[in-house]
Amino acid sequence: MDYQKILNTIHEEMSYRDVKGKVASYIPELAKIDRKKFGMHVYCGDQQHFSFGDSNENFSIQSISKVFTLAMTMRIMGEDLWDRVDVEPSGDPFNSLTQLEYEHGIPRNPFINAGALVISDILVDQLHDPKQELLNFVRKITGDPNIHYDKRVAASEKATGYRNVALVNYIKALGNIKCDVEPIVDFYFHQCSLAMNCKDLAKAFMIFANKGRMLETGEKILKPKTVKRINALMQTCGFYDEAGEFSFQVGLPGKSGVGGGIVAIHPNNYSVAVWSPILNEKGNSELGMKALERFTTLTGVSVF
Ligand code: GLN
Repeated sequence: MDYQKILNTIHEEMSYRDVKGKVASYIPELAKIDRKKFGMHVYCGDQQHFSFGDSNENFSIQSISKVFTLAMTMRIMGEDLWDRVDVEPSGDPFNSLTQLEYEHGIPRNPFINAGALVISDILVDQLHDPKQELLNFVRKITGDPNIHYDKRVAASEKATGYRNVALVNYIKALGNIKCDVEPIVDFYFHQCSLAMNCKDLAKAFMIFANKGRMLETGEKILKPKTVKRINALMQTCGFYDEAGEFSFQVGLPGKSGVGGGIVAIHPNNYSVAVWSPILNEKGNSELGMKALERFTTLTGVSVF
């Protein structure tokens, strides 16, 4: 497969001019991003990789971080996690509070904010320094020791993250949060502020395309069963109330973030990351979704 040729075709065919969405502004710091940014990176199982555009430029990975914290939590508590978080698509926006009341504080899945905040609670409870441990985890699976939190993005979200604070309080009232609210949201806002580029993200997600093992060393990071679960959740819940549309258009397990990044994998084959900060109304990268649709169409390879 000539991945570079396919990427060049996508780069030539698509432009930010073709999409009408808006850059996220509810986190003020994210509104400063140049809407013209567009990059893509493919990392293959034979360690070859291919890219175009702004693929080496860092951006705020936002909800893509929920995959990393889910992986860390499954390493700590395995299947017991499912007593506290469900595994069903929500069909609701990522920051919705509505289902929690009648579902007794059990979030629908780990990739909506409610589920990610329960996971933050677990990591804050179980780890001495969760922020450092998350950094260690992503630095290890990318091999990039320079990955950091973007303190300005974390502070900007902290200043405006009323819904997330409400979610933790609400879930705590319903009995599914153990720790204090402040350290949970502090950890959550930091995880969302992780600054990474398409190259780092494609590399990191190779563990989900490679049954939980690091490609270069063969080191086992996650059990194959854990990877099966995480990939299933990315397929069914990775794009909030647009998970069906992403499966329909692209046909890969993946995860998006309101910074405009999307990462998707093809098991045993490759991982692909794309970044364009212009979001559609569901909060997913509009150009990113289109680029990935072209990618699985031009390669003729998806999981379906
Ligand atoms: N930090 C964002 C929030 O909690 C993440 C949302 C997202 O990327 N979908 O609102």
